[in-house]
Order: sequence, then structure tokens, then C-alpha cells
Amino acid sequence: MVNCLLCNCRLTQKLTISKIIFPGPLKQPLICPECFRKFIHYSLEESCRGCGREERSELCDDCQKWQQYYGWYLEHRPLFHYNQAMKEFMQKYKFQGQYHLRGIFKETIKETITHIEYDILIPIPVTEHTMLTRGFNQVTGLLGDISYTELIIHQNRQKVAQSKKDRQSRLQTKQPFLLKQGVNLKGKTVLLVDDIYTTGRTLYHAANLCYENGSKRVQSLSLAR
Ligand SMILES: [Zn+2]
Ligand SMILES: [Zn+2]
Repeated sequence: MVNCLLCNCRLTQKLTISKIIFPGPLKQPLICPECFRKFIHYSLEESCRGCGREERSELCDDCQKWQQYYGWYLEHRPLFHYNQAMKEFMQKYKFQGQYHLRGIFKETIKETITHIEYDILIPIPVTEHTMLTRGFNQVTGLLGDISYTELIIHQNRQKVAQSKKDRQSRLQTKQPFLLKQGVNLKGKTVLLVDDIYTTGRTLYHAANLCYENGSKRVQSLSLAR
């Protein structure tokens, strides 16, 4: 028997008539329906075209500020709300290093990505320090068997925690990323993927780098915001 990866209750696979007649591969869920229900999807209707925030305006105040700053805005799509359940998931997965939890949202992410048109999928990288301490990039972990290319890397620089800065200084933070040598994004449509969208700062840096290197269009996706 398999237990829910989050609450440890026993998972029962309901055998429907069609499954008995057409057995096929059974997709065993990794968490129970009660746990899954705690993760709240973002609505696609009445949401900001820039960041997915659920509100009536087409472009929220924050995204309008980004548009003023860069001359474009990112078309970001968040999957789930960063609520208590998501916080607890991130705590276990990312900070306690429970790498086996990476598959929980695999199907949802895959399903969403198949509906997005892009040439290259680039995950947001973690710093060398994080890689050494955490041992994995939580973003590529979430992607499972979806193909991606790690074209963006971190520049070596002392990191100052985002939360310690006010909005103005966050806007002006220096570009933390660079493209791997010899990468040409000319005319390419890029899909950036990150685990959490907080202020947008990280994704905007990455997107800006892509545009500066010839990208035609940059979209992004995050598990939560
Ligand atoms: Zn559960
Ligand atoms: Zn927005």
C-alpha cells in the first residue's frame, strides 16, 4: 500500500468498471484528495495578464510599474496560491530537502505546459551556494521529465535577501543572471519556470536577459504566487 506523501494517510485507488475492463497503466496519485484540495488553483478568468493576480483590471498596478520600467511586461502564469498548504509544502520540499515530494505537482505542471507554445524552456537557476547546501534545484525537480535547458546561470555575487529591500531598491537590483556562453536566443520564444513568484523581480531579470539576447517573446510559469 501507498501512503499520502503529505499526511501519510493510506491511499486507496478506486477501481472503476472501465479500469477493470481496460486495465492500462494506473496513475497512482502521490497525495490524498483531502491534501490536494488544500492547494488552490489560480483562476484564468479575471486575472492580470502580467502576473496572474486575480483582479478585474487587465494589468495590475505592479505590472504597470514593470511595464513603465522595462517597456514590456512579463506574461506570467501562476498555478497555485501561496497559501498555508503551499507554504508547508515548500518548507518540506525546499528547505527540509524532501526531494521525493517533487512529483506532487508534476501532472499539473505538465498539463499546463503542453498548452503553452515556446521554443525553449529555461528554469530559474539556484546559486552555487544553494546547490551545495540544498543539493538540488527545486525548479528542475518540479519539472520531472519535461525537457528544459539550463541556459541561465548565476553571476557570482553576494546575495542580499529580497525581503530586506523596499520596492524601489528591489526594482534597481543588479542583474543576478547571465546566459551561458555562446547561447543565441534570436527570434526564440522562451518559457521561464520558477517555483514561487513573489515580487516578480527574479523573473523580470531573467526575462530581460532573454530579450537583450534576441528573444521574440518571454512567458513564465510558477508553481505558486
Ligand atoms: Zn494527505
Ligand atoms: Zn499583475
